[in-house]
Amino acid sequence: MRTVRPQLVGLPDVLALESPASWVTRAALSQGATLREFTAFLGVGSRDVDQDWLRPGLGQRLSVCGLSKGAFAATQRVMAATQRLDPGGHRLLLWTKRGRPRYRVCPLCARSQRAPYFGIHCRYAAWCYCPEHHCLLEDACWSCRSQIELPWSLVRTDGLAGKCAYLSECFLCTRRFGDGPVIRLSEMGAMPSVFSLQLENGRALLAALYRNEAVLNGRSRPISAIRQVEALGLLRNSNSNPLADWWRQRCRE
Ligand SMILES: [Zn+2]
Ligand SMILES: [Zn+2]
Repeated sequence: MRTVRPQLVGLPDVLALESPASWVTRAALSQGATLREFTAFLGVGSRDVDQDWLRPGLGQRLSVCGLSKGAFAATQRVMAATQRLDPGGHRLLLWTKRGRPRYRVCPLCARSQRAPYFGIHCRYAAWCYCPEHHCLLEDACWSCRSQIELPWSLVRTDGLAGKCAYLSECFLCTRRFGDGPVIRLSEMGAMPSVFSLQLENGRALLAALYRNEAVLNGRSRPISAIRQVEALGLLRNSNSNPLADWWRQRCRE
């Protein structure tokens, strides 16, 4: 007889294009579980939940969480195409120096979200600006310069033991991402044309991954054609320096 695992209750809804790592971070808190306990229960590793989400057992994982099959459909498509193009996501995804998954944040999105979360696009090295707010994304907390790693335990320890954190604030210094300065594209004036192309190609990359096909010069091509764009240096990757830092440096000169 097939064993039916109990469904969890009280889990948060999956928000628009939310990354699995963001959702798991919020969901673990809702269950009063540690990240390690919760990811082990789901059958994914606790290191890179975004990529592990596609591991075998996905249907069971969704079912036990009471989620519909389509709850993560868009992020699954994007991540599956990523793994075809760049197995392990070493070039396309963002990582800390210690090899932990990291994210960028739009200060204005962080200010306006009622339920703070991170979309899967914020994990991509090529996705550098927010098309809704027309500003650059930030690679680190504006106050303490810590990078944003996910998944992350929202249960605070040290001096704030017993309190919980939010995805709208720095996990280390607790300053809100939305309180930081905003670099609006309209204030940047003319920038090197390669940067303008990289900004646009960042958006095009995510669309291509979702469709699992690239459109180059108006022609539909296999997703592997993205490598030509990469080879020309027209796509920012995990080794590219943060564009917001380049701009701040330029303002100081
Ligand atoms: Zn935004
Ligand atoms: Zn901070």
